[in-house]
This record gives sequence, structure tokens and C-alpha cells, in this order.
Amino acid sequence: MRKFIIVTGGVLSGLGKGVVTASIGLLFKLKGYRVTMQKIDPYVNVDAGTMNPYEHGEVFVTHDGKETDLDIGRYERFLDEELSAENYITTGQVYWRVIHRERAGAFLGKTVQVIPHITDEIKRLIQLPLEKEHAQIGVIEVGGTVGDIESLPFLEALRQLKDELPREDTFFVHLTLLPHIATSDEIKTKPTQHSVKELRAIGIQPNAIVARCDRPIPDSVKRKIALFCDVSQENIFEDQDLPSIYEIPITMKAQGLDRQIAKELALSPRKADLNPWEKRLKRIQNPSQHVLIGIVGKYIQLADSYISITEALIHAGADLDVGVKLRWISAEQLNQDGAEVHLQGLDGVLIPGGFGDRGIEGKVLAVNYVRRKQLPFFGICLGLQCAVIEYARASLGLAEANSSEFNSNTPYPVIDLLDDQKQVTDKGGTMRLGAYKAILKQETRSYSCYRKTSIYERHRHRYEFNPIYRNLFEEGGMRIAATSPDDRLAEIVELVDHPWFVGVQFHPEFRSHFLSPHPLFSGFLRACLDQKTPSSPASC
Ligand code: GLN
Repeated sequence: MRKFIIVTGGVLSGLGKGVVTASIGLLFKLKGYRVTMQKIDPYVNVDAGTMNPYEHGEVFVTHDGKETDLDIGRYERFLDEELSAENYITTGQVYWRVIHRERAGAFLGKTVQVIPHITDEIKRLIQLPLEKEHAQIGVIEVGGTVGDIESLPFLEALRQLKDELPREDTFFVHLTLLPHIATSDEIKTKPTQHSVKELRAIGIQPNAIVARCDRPIPDSVKRKIALFCDVSQENIFEDQDLPSIYEIPITMKAQGLDRQIAKELALSPRKADLNPWEKRLKRIQNPSQHVLIGIVGKYIQLADSYISITEALIHAGADLDVGVKLRWISAEQLNQDGAEVHLQGLDGVLIPGGFGDRGIEGKVLAVNYVRRKQLPFFGICLGLQCAVIEYARASLGLAEANSSEFNSNTPYPVIDLLDDQKQVTDKGGTMRLGAYKAILKQETRSYSCYRKTSIYERHRHRYEFNPIYRNLFEEGGMRIAATSPDDRLAEIVELVDHPWFVGVQFHPEFRSHFLSPHPLFSGFLRACLDQKTPSSPASC
């Protein structure tokens, strides 16, 4: 059995297509099917690694080291599974493969064309994850908006796939927007009609429409959409604005989206048990207490730039029955105003990953504050590097210590290029990427969170803690709590003389899922709770 559920988007971007797609994947997984998911990004970039987080949001890294769009992270968080490089396709990848084959002579004599050569390659890539994972259902999200030039080859390939397969093997869901006009108090269906028209011109008739709206959609409006878009009324679903994205699978199931898809895919009726999901969700909706965490970063204008971190905090909070409130702090602003102004009143501080020297001095100031004030601190990748720089400058007397990323002439490069990065010139896909094993020392804060000595965590960096300074740091009181198996690379640093000060060279946020939070995020939140109410149970 091999079925495809394809999700397209219309009217405009940013309607939450990733969440709807992830919800469909989850519902079919909970029905007991082997589900795989795939994101199609119609950009010419080969992967998301070279895209600016300001414009595109976070770059998510899979366990096998592919730099992908943040939707892959969303699928992992909903499905509670790890996806791989094959679950993400871009225009760049498709053309790259076809052009390489053309150069190798694979098409000798032939004119290489978008149809059939590019579309054949797309169809092959779409079916690959199902084959590899022995999946029964592939849920595929087409990025962008119908009508964009970029997505045409992908939609054409999907049209061909639909026509090549039996009718009951494909199901198209189209997500649109129903704007509400305040002056006439009307919900308008015209943009939906136009976007469906656009899709039909390509040869795709949607089987269902999910309409984003800021209020319930009256039956009369659903009838109108059904009539104009040639979709049966029972296949029109509303996607109202909700406080938590984790409510979406519940509202989709309540309206019968999964039931209707299953019916048209000729699947026997099965129930998706959302009970554990609902229990978790209740804790998000009504937590018994709150903590206030400061995130000191550079890309704070776009919360999507740190989406895996904010989600990981929500997951750990749901587990511990703690609501997490965030204060977004610009590192540059903090550097101008001083740490006190921005960090006062917080229960903990997190410094996320990043690149380039902008805002670094502000982050170092923030570390200095949390170290002195004994405030829980979680440094991730660049966050660890800033913690190491601060400790070298303030506690080890190396006043000009820095990372060679920010000052190539520093006399004390406490953070330096990884050995195997020294010859690298290309920027795309050349960092230390994906999951690596690390060995944890017992009697450390991190060990009491993980409760095991061997861990696998995902990386995305070029620089590392410089091993020539290791003894100096350990003697001073910043211990290396985890290393690579050959003991060469420092993967976690901790301050001995501090309630919870943990810096990690990897990205734990990529492994946190709604139903299985990451132990370090739970440990950090417990420490923040201790900070707030010192009598609460001891943090790990
Ligand atoms: N810029 C740093 C490096 O390349 C940190 C990277 C990150 O935070 N992901 O090592």
C-alpha cells in the first residue's frame, strides 16, 4: 500500500501549512499507519543552510546532517520521529542531480527538459522516502503559494503522479485564507476561489479545502466555497487562529479531516487516539506556575529564527506543568544598556546559536551577569562559545580572549576553527553537521539530566573549544562535562560553582518533541523553578 496526501497553499504564505501538514501526518500515524513526511521547498538553493534566518526562519538540521527548512523540525516534533535528508527537496537539489547526470552523459543525444526530465526526477525523489522507510503513507507539503513560478515543476510532477496512480492513492488538501472584512462584517471567499482556479489550471482539483479564518466559518460560506471550488461541503474545513499550534490536530480530527481523507483513499476506518496529546496540551493551556526566561540573541525580530528553542521550552514546560514566558533581548541593545536593565527579574537566561560577531559583546556581558548572579544559564552552540570567552576573560585573566571567528588576531583563541574546517572554502553544507556521539561524565549537571553516559546530538558549527586551554579551564572551575568519544572535542561545559550553568556545543533543541521533551531543557526549566521558589524539588 502506498498513498500520498499532498498539501498545497493558496492566497498567501504564512498560513500555517506546516502545522496542518504535520497534524495530518500525526493523525495517520496514530491510526497505526507507517507515515513519512516530505517538504518541497521550491527555492533554487540546494539546501536551507545558506538562507538567512531573518527571511526564512531557523535552519533545522536532521540527524544525518541535512540543513533543512524549519517545517522538517515541525514534522519531527509532531510525529515524535527523526526524519532524514530525503524528507526535504529543493529546486536546487533536483536540478543539481539532473545536471550532473547530463554532464555524465546519461541523456546523450537527448534534449534535457523540465518535462519529462525534471518532473521525473521530482517524482523519483517524492517516492524515495516511502521506499526507504517502507512507509504506507507519504504526506507531502509543497512550499510557497500556488501561482508562484517556482512551484510549477513540482505541481506538474504531482499532477502526473496523480494520473499515473489509481484514483484512490492520492489526496490533495489546499490551504487558503478567508479574510474577514470588518466594515461589512463579511467573510470573503473570492481569494479562495481564485487560488483553487489557479490550481485547477495546472490540472489539480483539490479534494479538500482547509480555510484559515479568524472566526468560525458559517455553513453558508462553506456551501459557497463548495459550489465555486467543486469540492464537496463535507470536505471544507476551518482552521481558526488558536493560542497553541498543538491544538490543530485536535480541531482537524474533531471536524473529520482524517476521516474524510481515509475514506477517499479507500482506507478502512480507524480511530486516532489523541488522549496523551490532549493531556499534554491541557498543561500548556493551564499551567500551575510560570517561569520567565530571557533569550539573548541577534535574530530576535523574527521568532521563527529560534523556533526549535521556543518549542523545546514549551515541551519541557508541558512535561513539568510550567508555563514558559519569554523575554526577547537584543544582544546589541544589551551591550549598550548594560545587562542589569534587560536581565533583571528573569528566572533563567538562554543564549542560542548564531554566526558572525554582531551582538557578541552583549552576549558575553549577559553571561557575566548570570555567572555572578547565579542565575540558571543555558548556552547553545554560540551560547557555549560566549560562556567560554567570558570565563577566560573574567576568571582566567585572559582579557583579550575571543573566538577566532570574531577576532582572527586574538592572543587567546579559546574558541578556534575545528581542525577539519581549516581547508574548507565552500559555505554550503560544509560545517560539522548532524548527529555525533558524545561521552558524558558522571557527577555532572548534564549527566543527572540525561542519566546515561553516551548521547547523540546534532551539530551545526565550524568552531570549537580550543583544547590547548582545557586544563586551565578545568583548574579554574569550568569543567568539560562531555567530550567526543576520542576525548578531543569539548561538547558540554559547566560551571562547578553555580546552580545550573550549562553550555552545549550541539543543538539539543532539534531533538525535543511535543511528547518527548529534551532532558537538558527539562533540567534548565527545573533550575529556573528552583531559582524562583528555592523550596521546590532540586533541579538536576
Ligand atoms: N558561529 C559558531 C560556529 O560556527 C556557532 C555556530 C552556531 O551557533 N550554530 O562555530
